Amino acid sequence: MPVLVMKFGGTSVANLDRIRRVAKRVGVEVAKGYDVIVIVSAMSGKTNELVGWVNETSPLYDAREYDAVVSSGENVTAGLMALTLQEMDIPARSWQGWQVPVMTTAAHSQARIEDIPPANIMAKFGEGMRVAVVAGFQGVSPEGRITTLGRGGSDTTAVAFAAAFGAERCDIYTDVDGVYTTDPRICEKARKLDRIAFEEMLELASLGAKVLQTRSVELAMRFKVKLRVLSSFEEQSDEAGTLVCDEEEIMESNVVSGVAYSRDEAKMTLLSVADRPGIATVIFGALSDAGVNVDMIVQNISDEGRTDMTFSLPTDQVARAEKAMTEIRGKEINFAELVADEDVCKVSVVGIGMRSQSGVAAKMFKVLSDEGINIKVITTSEIKISVLIDRKYMELAVQALHDAFELEKAA
Ligand code: ASP
Ligand code: MG
Repeated sequence: MPVLVMKFGGTSVANLDRIRRVAKRVGVEVAKGYDVIVIVSAMSGKTNELVGWVNETSPLYDAREYDAVVSSGENVTAGLMALTLQEMDIPARSWQGWQVPVMTTAAHSQARIEDIPPANIMAKFGEGMRVAVVAGFQGVSPEGRITTLGRGGSDTTAVAFAAAFGAERCDIYTDVDGVYTTDPRICEKARKLDRIAFEEMLELASLGAKVLQTRSVELAMRFKVKLRVLSSFEEQSDEAGTLVCDEEEIMESNVVSGVAYSRDEAKMTLLSVADRPGIATVIFGALSDAGVNVDMIVQNISDEGRTDMTFSLPTDQVARAEKAMTEIRGKEINFAELVADEDVCKVSVVGIGMRSQSGVAAKMFKVLSDEGINIKVITTSEIKISVLIDRKYMELAVQALHDAFELEKAA
């Protein structure tokens, strides 16, 4: 029988009522003849609570025990979902990651899936089980310890199962009805997209759109998994949600398909650093050792052998970055001053159409200039342009760009 993967996020399994509701959806697919693999998250808020308990018990925790605790939320929902389905006379069984097994690396709290041998679950499908309810977000390391896949990781579990079982589709049920041109909370003209290309979704996810874990989109792109994002709170239909697919499957699309933003960014500049080989590796090596996630980087043209080095980072990592730079100052490098600007945000436009159409950057800069918004840093990729601007202009910039690129209209 064909296999379908259905993933339910935390809000879709937030209480017993909601679990019953989504179990009915699973029942509909079973009745159509699918063998279904259901991937569940923990009930909403549960993982945060567990992470909080770990931090309170042991601030510099052992990551193996973090995983032991934090993975447990999914075990509860997997068991409850299996029981709910059984109550509906649907043969169902729950599976924890190690039972499948979902084999991962040993990188605790950030593990990557290496392999999912389908044999055990397939054997049970062969014996009449119709639904395998799998605890998302977790796996087992080569040492046999429980691992987790990073926050939001059950999306990745779902896509990995769809690839491993050759599923017809991977449906991600969540609390929004699809992927939007931008965040409807800050731009009321935001429009739901019927389709979006893997690469665009990848950019949007890594720019902070929270619908899908970035890693899950990477996997879907690599294994060509048909991925659909849809709401578990609305009526079911075959047209519902947003299909994330190959760009060849999209007939017409706008040059720009979405505007993304990330609110809590900071910018740091090292003034007057010697311009010689090895400087960048010292600076960014020290930042990386300190666990700072550097995003944009700009090095100025040098003047009399000295230059300024600017980079962006999440606001809550500024203190860590300052400490790392102070530690190397006077030893490995010299600089005149370290300046931090913690009131910036990043706004980006994304679209595969940019590959073939010029003028997108020029238009973006014109729109911002017309609004009197100063651009502090610019970076580009083949299908994305990002700018760093003052945080107080974030909503304005998103709305103005959404208007200028006419994202409220379908192509
Ligand atoms: N429960 C985990 C989290 O909140 C994994 C997930 O829901 O995707 O991050
Ligand atoms: Mg999620």
